[in-house]
Amino acid sequence: MMAKVCKIWTAMARERPRFIADSMLGRLATWLRVLGYDTAYDAGITDSELIRRAKREGRIILTRDRRLLKRKGIGEALLIRSDHFREQLREVVSHFGLDPRSGFLTLCIRCNTPLEDIRKEEVRDRVPPYVFRTQEDFMICPRCGRIYWGATHRERMEEEIRELFGG
Ligand SMILES: [Zn+2]
Repeated sequence: MMAKVCKIWTAMARERPRFIADSMLGRLATWLRVLGYDTAYDAGITDSELIRRAKREGRIILTRDRRLLKRKGIGEALLIRSDHFREQLREVVSHFGLDPRSGFLTLCIRCNTPLEDIRKEEVRDRVPPYVFRTQEDFMICPRCGRIYWGATHRERMEEEIRELFGG
């Protein structure tokens, strides 16, 4: 019996949770996307829409608002206690046992869409010449068209993650 429960739990844990962040948690949403966790965010969303969308899309609500948690039919939600995004990110990672590295930079930070590989020749006119000369691997967001490459901002993010989670 025990073994069966554990097995189900492990299967559930392996599935990546998806989130929706309330309007106060924009920076947290961005960082969850950096870690590859699908996180919806809309600064102008109302509480009722937030709850409806969470339900419709199977998302866990992340909120700073205790009153929101008391609403009927809210579903799964986590109250974020800290005001600072680094601490907020740690709260989410530790509460849900997330792996901060497995999906690093696989989602568009701007619009939460999975990135796709794109061949170097195809980005020639779409990135600065210096970037084109010095970088080999590029990714593109199929939704907003933003192009990603392994430049300094990527290193900065990796540095930040090392500071936050060690390793
Ligand atoms: Zn995008």
